[in-house]
Amino acid sequence: MAVACVAIIAVSGWREWSSRQATLKSAETDMANLARSLTQHADDTFELTDTVLNVLVGQLELEGTGPAAIAKIQTFLSRRKAANRIRAVFIYDETGRWLATSEPVEFAGLNNSDREYFQHHRAVADRGTFIGHPVRSRSGGQWIITASRRFNHPDGSFAGVALTTINVDYFLQFYSGFDVGQNGSVALAAADGIVLARSPDNGYTGRDLSGAPLFRKLRERPVAGAYYFTSPLDGVRRLSFYQRSSRYPVLVVATESEDDVLAPWRRAALGRMAAVLGLAGGLAVAGLLLVHQLHQRQKMAAALVAKEADFRLLAEQSGDMVMRIAIDRQILYASPSSAQILGWAPNELVNTSALAGINPADLARVEQTISALMDGEAEEARIAYRTRHREKIEVWIETALRVTRSAQSGDINGVVAISRDMTERKDLEDKLSALAISDGLTSLANRRHFDERLAAEWDRARREGAPLSLLLIDVDHFKSFNDQYGHQAGDACLRSIARVLAEQARRPADVAARYGGEEFALLLPNTDAGGCKQVGEQIRQAIQELGILHAFNPPSKQVTVSIGGGATHVALTDKADCASLIAAADKALYVAKESGRNGLVMSGQIIAWPGSIRA
Ligand code: GH3
Ligand code: MG
Ligand code: MG
Repeated sequence: MAVACVAIIAVSGWREWSSRQATLKSAETDMANLARSLTQHADDTFELTDTVLNVLVGQLELEGTGPAAIAKIQTFLSRRKAANRIRAVFIYDETGRWLATSEPVEFAGLNNSDREYFQHHRAVADRGTFIGHPVRSRSGGQWIITASRRFNHPDGSFAGVALTTINVDYFLQFYSGFDVGQNGSVALAAADGIVLARSPDNGYTGRDLSGAPLFRKLRERPVAGAYYFTSPLDGVRRLSFYQRSSRYPVLVVATESEDDVLAPWRRAALGRMAAVLGLAGGLAVAGLLLVHQLHQRQKMAAALVAKEADFRLLAEQSGDMVMRIAIDRQILYASPSSAQILGWAPNELVNTSALAGINPADLARVEQTISALMDGEAEEARIAYRTRHREKIEVWIETALRVTRSAQSGDINGVVAISRDMTERKDLEDKLSALAISDGLTSLANRRHFDERLAAEWDRARREGAPLSLLLIDVDHFKSFNDQYGHQAGDACLRSIARVLAEQARRPADVAARYGGEEFALLLPNTDAGGCKQVGEQIRQAIQELGILHAFNPPSKQVTVSIGGGATHVALTDKADCASLIAAADKALYVAKESGRNGLVMSGQIIAWPGSIRA
């Protein structure tokens, strides 16, 4: 922009300078033409005087200066009217005395031997015309230029001077007809530097300019030429053209002030330059704005790059896997941690589906979460799911999701997902929760878990109007087993019984639990009294069939259990709670013990049949 501005200004400046030079050149031509024609005019004027003088000199030399001859000439001259160009004609004898004149004056006794031209002719034998310096006329008092010739006696000696005078006014009037501007001038000067006529006059007539540079070496200069000078009088710089006459020792100088010449150009040039400067200024302002904007953009771009570098560093140094996911669920970016977490390098993941490899059991949940974010229902979410690892079978992933928005429109354009492997934690959690609900010795559900499940199944049965059964199992004479075989054997026995119970709890909803020290419980949802009894009887038999020796448990002398069963069909309107089921089963167990052990008693049987079923 700066270069363009400078170039525009430079080209315009150069153009204006050329136009200035052309204007001056054209003024030089004008001045040259003027000077040439005025020189021609001066030549013509002097030629005319020459003709007159030639005739007079011929006459005088032929007829002499005797009274008769003079009288004849006087008569001839008197008849002549003063003309514009040649004002008057005079004849002087060799002493300077007036002999004849065309002027209507009484000239007896007048003598012009003091005049320069007279002395020149008397001294110099040359018979050519002598153009004298302007003088004030003795007859009229106005400025005149003299043109004179000498005439001789028949022996060649000086006989006198014939003189014509030209009105300086004549030149002035003629010159004033040319327009050379306010500060211009046209001057006719003798070759020795004396001003013959000048327009405007300003008192210049007769002034000696021989000291001026033009006249100092005039003879060495060409006959015509242009020159520039600064006037020492008014300080105005001027352009002049001089033309020397080829026939007479005179020259014409036409002068114009440079300011006058250049004024029209200056006005136009100023207008044009103002327009150009305006344009360049506009360009410069536009350029500055552009540069400013570019700077801003560069700054923003640099800031963005720096920011992006920061974020990339964060993403790429993090142990967590960072992913950018597009609206169509394609992975746009994955950080290097993907290699550890999923076993796939980032470039293998980019442009693949973010949902690939997710365990089908979790897929719907993950899809739902991402859709909710993409639809703008939430800004962020956290989700745990299983997904395939390249080498391991499956890993647990915990992911924090957050929507990303387009910087321009603010519309959601994807989500960023930060994931970490939580398999180990999940395993630990699973172990802990398993520990929390199971019994350490038997691995059956512990009492707390049993209570929870009982309450939950009770509520469900109530809601659904479904049957619910419970078996309470107590080992017979276990105290004496311990006493006889030791506690460790007792524990091993309990574990064997627990295995039987776990096997019998066939349905997924069945809960086999260690209810107390050597007491077990089996919760059987959706099982009525009949089913319950059947399961209880199978358990009782299976335990006996274990064949664990128990000398103090007559009559079988093997480990046996007594079982109390309770079955219920609770309606929604029932006020009873699950404790009643336990109480019923407990009561039945008590009856089973009382009835001789190794038997199953259903609570309903307590009323129907007071006895117990015996093996
Ligand atoms: P009954 O036939 O009337 O049930 O007689 P019993 O001796 O089995 O009496 P009870 O049911 O009161 O038995 C409690 C005994 O069970 C006390 C204790 O020696 C034994 N016992 C309880 N918990 C454990 C245990 O975790 N390990 C071992 N080895 N024995 C236990
Ligand atoms: Mg007991
Ligand atoms: Mg017991």
